[in-house]
Amino acid sequence: MKIESALIEKARQLLETSRSIVITNHINPDGDAMGSAMGLYGVLKKLNKPVNAVIPNPYPDFLRWMVGAERVVTFEGQEEEATALVNGADLIIHLDYNAFSRSGGMESLLAESAAQKIMIDHHQQPQDFATVTFSDTAMSSTCELLYHILAGLNWEGYIGQHEAECLYTGIMTDTGSFRFNSTTLYTHQVAGALLEKGVEPNAMASRVYDINTPFRLKLLSTALNAMEVMENLPVAIIKLSARDLSENQYKKGDTEGFVNYGLSMLGVKLSVFMVEKDGLVKISFRSKGDFDVNLLARAHFNGGGHKNAAGGASDESLEATVNHFKEIIVDYRDALEKA
Ligand code: 5GP
Ligand code: MN
Repeated sequence: MKIESALIEKARQLLETSRSIVITNHINPDGDAMGSAMGLYGVLKKLNKPVNAVIPNPYPDFLRWMVGAERVVTFEGQEEEATALVNGADLIIHLDYNAFSRSGGMESLLAESAAQKIMIDHHQQPQDFATVTFSDTAMSSTCELLYHILAGLNWEGYIGQHEAECLYTGIMTDTGSFRFNSTTLYTHQVAGALLEKGVEPNAMASRVYDINTPFRLKLLSTALNAMEVMENLPVAIIKLSARDLSENQYKKGDTEGFVNYGLSMLGVKLSVFMVEKDGLVKISFRSKGDFDVNLLARAHFNGGGHKNAAGGASDESLEATVNHFKEIIVDYRDALEKA
């Protein structure tokens, strides 16, 4: 996999000449957002670049092992420091998202920044705001794409075991452990290259997935108990109310992966997970085959993402959001049957 060399050289020039670099990623950062941020942070630190990571809101606890994560400045809670860093930056690197609307409270701060910008992302329909845009929707993850960019810059030697673990985390989580449609020969080649840097797959899987608490498992059982499979449609709906969360001492990240249970049922092609939190209903969509949930999320739930994994939100109640979904999904019967 070779990245266009003109883009690489333009990025090199920005990285070499900038006096203050800020790395940022999307709201509710996941394994790919944090893995790419901390992997790149580690490489740039080794190169003695003046770099800080500033993210919109806290990352989940199971990513706390990432070196540098403790130095990340979080806009929610550290607004003054975050604002000063962004305003002082002459280069901002946007990882794992492609629209300012994914930056939560940092949206206007970033949109109004005069800094040069590099985008590294694998989602559909990128906005055109960056000086240099690396956007490849064929990539399993931002971490896979970042690996190719670092290789293109001839900076592979700066990927040590820890940076490799960060990149591997993003690839592993965004591919559902090398199971999703987005997993390619190249994905495995990059994973192999990271193993050569010392990554141990079994240890990584334990670190990232074996993190259940009794509360999280009870929350999962609550979600699965109430799961619905729609009549005459290959669609599963899983939902959790704010009360379900508080009764099970919800912590950030606890519902990660719940949506996949719907898709694990024989015959189900679309799984939807709706959770009521922070005054909104946050929605995750997962699909199999050709059914495009990016388009569905964009059309009806103010969201987006990838063909087989997307998200959105609704400011209606949980029940109203479920009902709205049930109404609109009927029009997709043909597409679901063909998928
Ligand atoms: P998740 O369901 O894990 O939150 O997100 C699935 C995918 O959709 C991720 O790649 C994520 O970045 C993207 N995504 C999630 N929520 C939104 C949203 O509200 N808007 C957009 N554009 N993408 C989203
Ligand atoms: Mn990603």
